[in-house]
Amino acid sequence: ESALVGRRYESSAAAVDSSDAPPAEKFEYQAEVNRLMDLIVHSLYSNKEVFLRELVSNASDALDKLRYLSVTDPDLLKDGPELDIRIQTDKDNGIITITDSGIGMTRQELVDSLGTIASSGTAKFLKTLKESQEANVDSNLIGQFGVGFYSAFLVSDKVAVSTKSPKSEQQYVWEAEAESNSYTIREETDPEKLIPRGTRLTLYLKRDDKGFAHPERIQKLLKNYSQFVSFPIYTWQEKG
Ligand code: ADP
Ligand code: MG
Repeated sequence: ESALVGRRYESSAAAVDSSDAPPAEKFEYQAEVNRLMDLIVHSLYSNKEVFLRELVSNASDALDKLRYLSVTDPDLLKDGPELDIRIQTDKDNGIITITDSGIGMTRQELVDSLGTIASSGTAKFLKTLKESQEANVDSNLIGQFGVGFYSAFLVSDKVAVSTKSPKSEQQYVWEAEAESNSYTIREETDPEKLIPRGTRLTLYLKRDDKGFAHPERIQKLLKNYSQFVSFPIYTWQEKG
């Protein structure tokens, strides 16, 4: 009987919290990341447009990793054979989303990759690639020693990274604001936001940088900086 009471108590407690989504967990950045973020957010760095090159290069790396690993583990492609990058612009709201169908990240990989600097998965991957002496593997995986992922904050007030690894059942969202020392990770529960595999970055552009959310602007930057990416890049805009 007491067990029954316990259950009843639990279900009424759940009803108070109207959503059944697991709560977001808060994490502090590694000190080096704080320093880098501070530099990025407060610098007067004028070449802000490099953000697109960095993020497209990460998308391309993620696709390369998946393609390489799927040679020995074809099951990794079970959620869809397409390997591409999709960039959507919403100029009215100043939002850019960059979606790749690459290797994605598990929850632990999110913490390891987007909260620290030293652990560059790509660098490790390159090393593995070199050691394995595979001759025909696309060696377009050049580690960027610029500001990488964090360059998103050159133009964004807030960044969300929603990602689904083929190794994980769940999709996770990493979220951070430019002026913060911390980020959160939560499980993606909105069915409309689920992706079969890969990573979707959502950039909420700063007021002065909303001009980047124009398809012509994006296309021009892609032409200038990302012309050698070996996966199709599709761009389209939200209907206004
Ligand atoms: P680098 O690309 O030199 O490793 P970045 O700061 O650009 O450094 O990215 C950090 C790490 O975050 C990457 O090594 C990768 O593990 C992870 N990452 C970033 N973007 C993606 C993505 N689109 N898909 C999967 N992993 C990503
Ligand atoms: Mg990078």
